Amino acid sequence: MNRSALGRTLAMVGVLAIILLPLSSAFPHLNDLTASSTGPVPDHWAASAFPIVWNINPARGGNVQGSRAVADVIQASFTTWTSAPNTTLSVARGNDSTKTAAGMDNTNLICFVCTGDFSSEAETLAVTMTTVATSVGDSDGRGGTTQFVGQILDADILFNPSNTFTTDTGNGTVQDVQTVATHEIGHFFGLDHSPIVRAIMFPFTPDVETTLGYDDVAGISAMYPASGQAVGTGSISGTVRLNGAGVFGAHVFADSQTGAEAFAAFNIRKTPIGTLSTPGGSYTITGVPPDSYVVTAEPLDLPVTNTDVSDFPKAYNQGAVQTNFTTRSH
Ligand SMILES: [Zn+2]
Repeated sequence: MNRSALGRTLAMVGVLAIILLPLSSAFPHLNDLTASSTGPVPDHWAASAFPIVWNINPARGGNVQGSRAVADVIQASFTTWTSAPNTTLSVARGNDSTKTAAGMDNTNLICFVCTGDFSSEAETLAVTMTTVATSVGDSDGRGGTTQFVGQILDADILFNPSNTFTTDTGNGTVQDVQTVATHEIGHFFGLDHSPIVRAIMFPFTPDVETTLGYDDVAGISAMYPASGQAVGTGSISGTVRLNGAGVFGAHVFADSQTGAEAFAAFNIRKTPIGTLSTPGGSYTITGVPPDSYVVTAEPLDLPVTNTDVSDFPKAYNQGAVQTNFTTRSH
């Protein structure tokens, strides 16, 4: 596994008011969160946005190699998410675009020749820029008005033109477009980074990984649940305490102790399923198939750190996740 970073940038529209956050809310950490008057809200598209139309700029520089058309690879990456069990998502490919910049412009752009904000880390492979409503009743940029705080209004995926990609199979020095696209599309739908190493939303990419893990399915199905579950799931809740005080931002994950593969029929890789504890230390791990589990609380102190999930403490009006404790399992 190399350490190439899969970047993301969140653009906000509107002005954030100073607010008090209740400490009881619990969302899977996998969501991007936006602060609201009632506490953090998971960023997601409105039901009326589906099918979400994406538009590719099919131009590719010499840094993009391979025999497959980029549009075909992007379509395959979207299908990985839209075919996930327990969730309802739909997308449609719109007209090709000649745009070369991201923005709230009624185009959800996929671009290989665009200049994005790749300055934070030179090895950033791609960024997803989303525009999210911070108040209700504003222009949604598409002729309507915003419906809820945290509503995703526009999302653009920009591949870093300074990196070398292939539409065939990546090999560590030439990055696999489908692997990177599948990760970025998770951000496109509103997911944040996951500290679960084998999740597609883990912020450092393996050479090739184009299928979702249990952790990814838990995250996406919490935001866009299907009316009926193809695989029944439940949740695990508790509180992380250190010397009696709740721990904020502990990574808590449930790891199955049997060989049962609840999602095997859907080509979903078995991974632990995790979340981050809220202020006060409470956590709820959702999307957990029936099995016996060991639950572990660990500090986010590498490979994933506060930097990779910085919207999480921000949404709870905290400076950073807490890491002054040691890993414990039960
Ligand atoms: Zn990312």
